[in-house]
Amino acid sequence: MQCGDDTTTSENSMSLKKTLSVASPLTLRIVAECPVTKARACELVLPHGAVNTPVFMPVGTQGTMKGITVDQLDALGCRICLGNTYHLGMRPGPDLIEKARGLHGFMNWKRNLLTDSGGFQMVSLVELSEVTEEGVKFKSPYDGKEILLSPEKSISIQNSLGSDIMMQLDDVVSSTVTGPRVEEAMHRSIRWLDRCIAANKNPDKQNLFAIIQGGLNAELRKACLDEMTRRDVPGFAIGGLSGGEEKDDFWRMVTLSTDHLPREKPRYLMGVGYAVDLVVCVALGCDMFDCVFPTRTARFGSALVPWGSLQVKQKQYAKDLQPIDPDCQCPTCKRHSRAYLHALFKSDTAAMHHITIHNISYQLTLMRSVRQSIVDGRFPDFIRTFMKRLFPSRDQYPSWAVDALASVNVTLE
Ligand SMILES: [Zn+2]
Repeated sequence: MQCGDDTTTSENSMSLKKTLSVASPLTLRIVAECPVTKARACELVLPHGAVNTPVFMPVGTQGTMKGITVDQLDALGCRICLGNTYHLGMRPGPDLIEKARGLHGFMNWKRNLLTDSGGFQMVSLVELSEVTEEGVKFKSPYDGKEILLSPEKSISIQNSLGSDIMMQLDDVVSSTVTGPRVEEAMHRSIRWLDRCIAANKNPDKQNLFAIIQGGLNAELRKACLDEMTRRDVPGFAIGGLSGGEEKDDFWRMVTLSTDHLPREKPRYLMGVGYAVDLVVCVALGCDMFDCVFPTRTARFGSALVPWGSLQVKQKQYAKDLQPIDPDCQCPTCKRHSRAYLHALFKSDTAAMHHITIHNISYQLTLMRSVRQSIVDGRFPDFIRTFMKRLFPSRDQYPSWAVDALASVNVTLE
């Protein structure tokens, strides 16, 4: 059980821990730690089975994964995926999903699920949203009615969905916004975290993760880390990044966060899914990732490969009988050629499904290789080989990645 040891000296924080401390349905076992970087390989045990980390979590919408079935996802070795609270909370609605034995029953997915708070979707999808201390007010895109998503409401929906990991409602500010609004959002997110903790009806079955905010301001982020890590939550997410900020700011905020997060709890970096970002952020100490990119890009015919991406629609593949990636073990690469997928793309959406399967397999396989290299004690070498394969020449290495890796003692030759 992950109960957080009471090592803090402040009386105030002791009493806070006592009132909020509940045995959580999550165990994190650290299997190996990289002796050079901050990377670690763990086993995260959740109510629907064990998850090996570092892990990439594919994103579903409306309870279904676009372009892939739950059986296919399971067969690829996926042990945790994301459900979308905003869409599910609107339609078909939490009551129906509760009747269907939660989102697991509704989707017929036997593995773990993580649900978001719904807040981010609202702020990014709904134009007319307004944030007050109460919550996020917005007009329903379905019937125009005004709806308030409060921390309590978000947790109530996620309790109905029955996800293994729930996310707190946070006050989302775009990562490119600066000034007093960032500070306000950070403090409000802390207050909302306490309301979410109090609202959770199933602390013995569902894990609530806090989301570290503070924008690109190191002092604010540090203050948020100090405050949130005093709460006895089962895990922490690093939020408010991957929103178009400079990559240099991005990695510095990630590494600042992992420096101050407790070693014995999982660390989830939200919205990150490019291969380079994944490998670098594992080196910076993150365990969990999610992103719509691999599945979204598949629908445009872009297949992810160790040397970048392959655009199936391009003419050069019309007569190419090789699979997308000759080294890939996924069902698409075992069965179909680039030429076949190229032809199929012209007439049939099935091509998108085949590429979606390949792309999710690519992400999961990448993370398994990363993990194995950490376990074997050769993660720095893995990074060098990975970078060489992805970039044709050294001068194409993104400078932020070079700097980020150097900060954890990995020099790229
Ligand atoms: Zn493949």
